[in-house]
Amino acid sequence: MTKKRDAAIDLTSAQFREIGHDMVDRIADLLENMRNRPVIGNKTPGEIKGLLGSGDALPEKGSDPIVLARNGAELLIENSLYNGHPRFFGYITASPAPLGILADFLASAVNPNVGAWQLSPMATEIEIQTVRWIAELLGYPVDCGGLMTSGGNLANFVCFLAARVDAGGDEIRAQGFNSESARKLRVYTSNETHTWIMKAADLFGLGTDSIRWIETDDMQRLDMNSLRSRVEEDRKAGLIPMMVSGTAGTVSTGAIDPLPEIAEFCREQGIWFHVDGAYGGFAAAVDMVDEDIRGLAEADSVAVDPHKWLYAPLEAGCALVRDQAKLRKAFSYHPPYYHFGEETINFFDHGLQNSRGFRALKVWMGLKQVGREGLVGMIEEDIRLTRDMYGALSANEELQTFTCQLSIATFRYVPPELKENINDVEVAEYLNKLNEEVLNRLKTSGEIFVSNAVLNDQFILRVCIVNFRTTYDDVRAVPEIVVRFGRKADGELRPEKLKTGKVSS
Ligand SMILES: *Cc1c(COP(=O)(O)O)cnc(C)c1O
Repeated sequence: MTKKRDAAIDLTSAQFREIGHDMVDRIADLLENMRNRPVIGNKTPGEIKGLLGSGDALPEKGSDPIVLARNGAELLIENSLYNGHPRFFGYITASPAPLGILADFLASAVNPNVGAWQLSPMATEIEIQTVRWIAELLGYPVDCGGLMTSGGNLANFVCFLAARVDAGGDEIRAQGFNSESARKLRVYTSNETHTWIMKAADLFGLGTDSIRWIETDDMQRLDMNSLRSRVEEDRKAGLIPMMVSGTAGTVSTGAIDPLPEIAEFCREQGIWFHVDGAYGGFAAAVDMVDEDIRGLAEADSVAVDPHKWLYAPLEAGCALVRDQAKLRKAFSYHPPYYHFGEETINFFDHGLQNSRGFRALKVWMGLKQVGREGLVGMIEEDIRLTRDMYGALSANEELQTFTCQLSIATFRYVPPELKENINDVEVAEYLNKLNEEVLNRLKTSGEIFVSNAVLNDQFILRVCIVNFRTTYDDVRAVPEIVVRFGRKADGELRPEKLKTGKVSS
C-alpha cells in the first residue's frame, strides 16, 4: 500500500467521521429547537468581536481540528440571526430547506467544477435539468438558455449583459466604452426597481444616467403611458432603448408590474423585455396571484432567486434567457488553453464565472423532494399567512396598514390620539421617527424580526414571509408585539406639544 502523505490540512477518516457526526447532531438540534431561541441575540458588534478574538494575529501553528470544528459551530450557532426562525419576517430571506443544507455539504465533498462539462459530467447535467425545471415552473420556454448564479443581482446582471450585446452587437464587446452605441443605450424601469439595475448600468459601462426611472401608479406598478412617452422621446433624440425591465414582486411592497402590457410594447418596439422575478417570480406557478405575473413567460430574459421562494440555502440565483444563442453570444470566448467539447453545455460560456461551484444540487433536490405540488402549496401558504397577518394588523386600532401583495405586508404604529392628525407635518415627522425607533427595538428584541419600507415619504414597517416554518400562531402574535413596542417607544419619545393629541397648525 502507498503511504499517505502527511499533509497539514488532511483529516484521518476517523476524525472526519467524528467531526461530521458531531456537526450534523448540532445542526439537527438547532433546527429542532430554533423556535425556542430568540430570532437574534442582542450582542453588540464589540461583544461579537470579543468572542471571536477578532484582533488576533494569523495563527503561526495549526490547531486540533476536532476542537476547532466544535468551537466554530458554537460561535456561529450561538451568535447568528436565524432567518429560518418561524418569526423571521425581515427582508426576503428564506428559511433554508434541511435537505438543501445537506446537499451543499455533498456538493462541496464531490467538488465538481461546473464551469465545464468534462469537469463535472453529472453536475452539469443536473444544473441543465434544474434550469429547465425552473423554466417549466414559471411557464417559460423550456428550451431557453440559463444558469445558476450566486443570487438575484448576478442573475439580473447575466440578463442585462445578454440584452446589452443584443442591442450593441460585437462592437460593444470589442470597444466597450468607446463604441458608438455605448453612449446611446438606455434602460427603462420603474422607480420601485431594486438597486441591482444601478449596479449593472454602472458596472457594465452604460452609467446610471442611462436608466430612465419610470413613475409608478398607486399600486407601485410601472406606468405604461410614462414608459411609452419616454421611449418615444429618446428615439427622437437618436438614443437606443436597450431594455425594459419589469419586476414580478418588488422588494418594498411585492408589486407586480403590468408584464403582459410591457411584453406587447417591447414586441412592437423591438426592445429586450427583462423581468426581475428574484422575489416573486416563482409565484407565477400559483393561481391565487394577480394574472399579470404570467406575463413573465413572454420576456426575453428572467431572473429568479431559488434562495428566496424555493427555500434553498444561500446562495442560489438563476438567470433564464429565451434565446440560448444570445446568452452565449454575450459571454463566450475560445482561448487556446480550453479544449472542451461542444456537444453539451460548458457553463463558463454562459455567464460571468469561470470555475463554478455546484449550486444547482440543493435546488434540484428541493424540487424533487416536494415536486410542483409541494412547492405551490408552500408558496400559497406563505401568501395566506401574510393575508391573515394583514387582516389582524388592520383590525388593530393602533396600527395603520398600507399594502399586502404576494407575501409582503406594510403597516405602522400610530398612537390613537394622533390618528386624526396624521397628515399634519409635525405629526408625520414624529410618526416616521417613532416607527424607525420601533423597528430598531423590534429588530434587536429577538421576539420578531421585521424590516421597513418608505412609501410616500412615510417610514413604515414591512413583513415578508418566505418561510415554511411560520404558522398562524406566529402571524397572529405580531400585532400585539408591535403595539407593545409602539406604546413604550411613544411614551418615551413623544414631544410635549404632541401630547394632547391636539395639533395647532
Ligand atoms: C432580492 C432581490 C434582488 C437581489 O437578489 P440577491 O439574491 O439579494 O442578489 C433583486 N431584485 C429583487 C426584486 C429582489 O427581491
